Amino acid sequence: MELDLLPLNLPNITAQRPLVIAGPCSAETEEQVMETATKLLAKGIKVFRAGIWKPRTKPGGFEGIGEQGLPWMQRVKQELGMLTATEVATPAHIEAALKYDIDILWIGARTVVNPFAMQEIADTLKGKDTPILVKNPVNPDIELWIGGLQRLNDAGIKRLAVIHRGFSSYDRRIYRNLPMWHIPIELRRRIPHLPIFGDPSHIGGRRELIAPLCQQAMDLGFEGLIVESHCNPDQAWSDASQQITPDVLDFILEKLTIRKSAEITESLDSLRKQIDECDNALLELLAKRMRISREIGTYKKEHNMTIVQTARYSEILDKRGAQGSLCGMNPNFIRDMFELIHEESIAQQSEIMNK
Ligand code: PEP
Ligand code: MN
Repeated sequence: MELDLLPLNLPNITAQRPLVIAGPCSAETEEQVMETATKLLAKGIKVFRAGIWKPRTKPGGFEGIGEQGLPWMQRVKQELGMLTATEVATPAHIEAALKYDIDILWIGARTVVNPFAMQEIADTLKGKDTPILVKNPVNPDIELWIGGLQRLNDAGIKRLAVIHRGFSSYDRRIYRNLPMWHIPIELRRRIPHLPIFGDPSHIGGRRELIAPLCQQAMDLGFEGLIVESHCNPDQAWSDASQQITPDVLDFILEKLTIRKSAEITESLDSLRKQIDECDNALLELLAKRMRISREIGTYKKEHNMTIVQTARYSEILDKRGAQGSLCGMNPNFIRDMFELIHEESIAQQSEIMNK
């Protein structure tokens, strides 16, 4: 998969992991925006997020302050020197956001599912140089995610990155949105130079999950984090249960263990080598087992015996199932595997007996 990408290259931001974007789910009041941004800046956060237009699942919730919040974002940029980021879903949003010099735009999970909306956004952004962050679509469809990126890239947008915010599921247990880590990992495999931001707030949906989800994103080598942070989280007008104060955010970031990508690859490489060795040993043992099966085939032929001796077969399946379970494996998996092995043994024995 080829995308024509350029580094995000954000002004005055050194390219270090993690690149952190933080701020409230929604801009609510001028005071809330300024207070949260000031506290975040004091903790070293340089990119401020706030939703101006909020796509809510049901009507009646807070749907964002709208354009009147954009001058507040501009104050954050001008008075505090932070970069600003907000969500856009329509051409009108993009035009308004750019009028107020928003530095980074992101496209929300509910918009990325819609190719018409993505095409309209791409057409509006043609000729603009704003970095765009594309959230994963709410449903776990990597092609749809990549399709959205392609539309933007075809429109000439090269400063692209993605946000992994998890996927909707019918039954919510631990997470608000299931992380399904294999999807961002596959995206990394297909488009290696595309930066990935982890969004622990929308995956977790709960404050206590933010720290472990940040760590997990770092362990997978993601480049950045986008975290919802509010000066008074309990009183937030949207997503209150997943927002944390700038102090708590700072505490979480301080505690993160950041491994270099090279270290990650090295330890992964060494684990992969161990897997290769295990597989080689398994194959050698299987070959040995088949050779013995063929010897048994010769014996049975010489003594005029049938191939399948059911009592012996049941004994093998039962014993191996129980042994597997003692070693921490699912007995059904072990039974299935030995059924397959047995099938191949029989095939090899028949060949010998019918020669
Ligand atoms: C948000 O970032 O506040 C938001 C609405 O996110 P998502 O599109 O991931 O639901
Ligand atoms: Mn939110």
